[in-house]
Amino acid sequence: MIKEKLIRKLRVVPGKGIRLRNFETGWAQNDELKIHEKGEVKERAAEILETNRLALASSQELLWANNTHSVLVVLQGMDTAGKDGTIRHVMSGMNPQGCRVCSFKVPTPDETDHNFLWRYSRDLPRRGEIGVFNRSYYEDVLVVRVHPELLDNQQLPPGKRGGKFWNARYEDINAFEQHLVRNGTIILKFFLHISKDEQKKRILERLETEEKYWKFSISDLAERSYWDVYQKAYETMFVKTSTYIAPWYIIPADYKWVARTLVADIISSRIQSLDLKYPELSAEQLKQIESAREELKNG
Ligand code: ADP
Repeated sequence: MIKEKLIRKLRVVPGKGIRLRNFETGWAQNDELKIHEKGEVKERAAEILETNRLALASSQELLWANNTHSVLVVLQGMDTAGKDGTIRHVMSGMNPQGCRVCSFKVPTPDETDHNFLWRYSRDLPRRGEIGVFNRSYYEDVLVVRVHPELLDNQQLPPGKRGGKFWNARYEDINAFEQHLVRNGTIILKFFLHISKDEQKKRILERLETEEKYWKFSISDLAERSYWDVYQKAYETMFVKTSTYIAPWYIIPADYKWVARTLVADIISSRIQSLDLKYPELSAEQLKQIESAREELKNG
């Protein structure tokens, strides 16, 4: 398990303004994961990832057996930040019955016919489950804030779309999350933080590798030109919506395995902190188990 001291560095302190450029996208601040010899990287990374996968799998089993809490993992990031790969890693050791991934794209007309949180509430994890939101209601204060003309498609009542309007959205999100937390949902929000150079490298890789052509979308280039506006929208969102009950984590994501390890570690540590135990059986149930065991052995 990664030390709490380190994880604390990634957590956005509620109410505190931050500058994303002060957060690492690579990995210099961490001795625990830092690998000095180049040749060591793969082996050590594989080892850490495997330990981490096993810890997550056993946490999930406890969550499932208890059936009182659920976990909502929110994943956000600029294009190519590595959301899909992180999801694959986090899910790789899990019992598929107890987890689900939901990806959110441009809302459909049926979705904009409702309040903006509606489509996300429909896909929340059940008790015992881990649900991953690949993009989330935060898009409604990110892409929509960067391109406010998108509001024209949202069938909203008329009104000004200034600071008050956006503050109301942050408040609605905080209230929504508070409701979920009070009902037993653990909310963990991750921003996969890559540098602009790393994004360029990844988009170029998509354009230069035939097997990766399919991943390229022309909108990736268009959105890249709004890089600074996005970073600003993220910074505002962090200060407005990182709360003690549902904090944001800014995950250095230039090295994919580092990002994957951190996300999986934070999820499993948080589940373990609930100190869940396997359900206790009554004396009567224990007796039933004993007699069933005998019956089967002797049958
Ligand atoms: P991804 O990039 O997540 O792999 P896509 O390439 O299909 O998946 O992109 C999904 C698109 O949907 C993104 O451009 C994102 O900004 C957009 N989107 C998601 N939620 C909303 C929303 N609420 N309003 C407008 N656009 C949205």
